[in-house]
Amino acid sequence: MSDNSQTVDQGSISGEADESSKPVPPEVDLPRIEKAVREILIAVGEDPDREGLVETPARVSRMYAELFSGLHTDPRIHLKKYFTEKYDEMVLVRDISFNSMCEHHMLPFIGKAHIGYVPNGKVVGLSKLARVVEEVSHRPQVQERMTEEIADLLVSELDVKGVAVVIEASHSCMSIRGVRKPGSLCVTSAMKGLFRSNLSSRSEIMTLIYGGRH
Ligand SMILES: [Zn+2]
Repeated sequence: MSDNSQTVDQGSISGEADESSKPVPPEVDLPRIEKAVREILIAVGEDPDREGLVETPARVSRMYAELFSGLHTDPRIHLKKYFTEKYDEMVLVRDISFNSMCEHHMLPFIGKAHIGYVPNGKVVGLSKLARVVEEVSHRPQVQERMTEEIADLLVSELDVKGVAVVIEASHSCMSIRGVRKPGSLCVTSAMKGLFRSNLSSRSEIMTLIYGGRH
């Protein structure tokens, strides 16, 4: 393999091309993260000055800035731009992909969120719900709390008659360490309003979420 092709390979694997795609929030202290990552490398017995690792602390610092960018945003903003509709049937947005970081291990958990709600006059654009998921997930998180947070946001901002949030995700901290159960899926749900009180509404939304899938 020539030197040239090696360079290209490294670039594509480490994702050099899109590293500057997101602005770093001013609150994030990149040099401090860099110092900490360098310390970790030393502590595990590595040489942070060897060629392959020289850029790693800086790269990881920018990555953390992106993965934790939701600490510096307010997801409620996306729900303020609602429109008024008489529609009072269920709205379901299924399969919103997300990635988050488990706050116990600082390892990613990756999955899909499904959000169903019955509006009470206020309806939001479907992409706004995806934005909410994105911002709530880009924080040190616990899947159970994330599920509740999304449901609570729809209750407080849209005054919905009911909301159902179901999240399914696989956790790296379960698949690559500890009990090592790759392929296992963690499913959490939060039901508020009529989805909590009304069994037929709840089973209807669950059928819509899981309909056609097994
Ligand atoms: Zn974990």
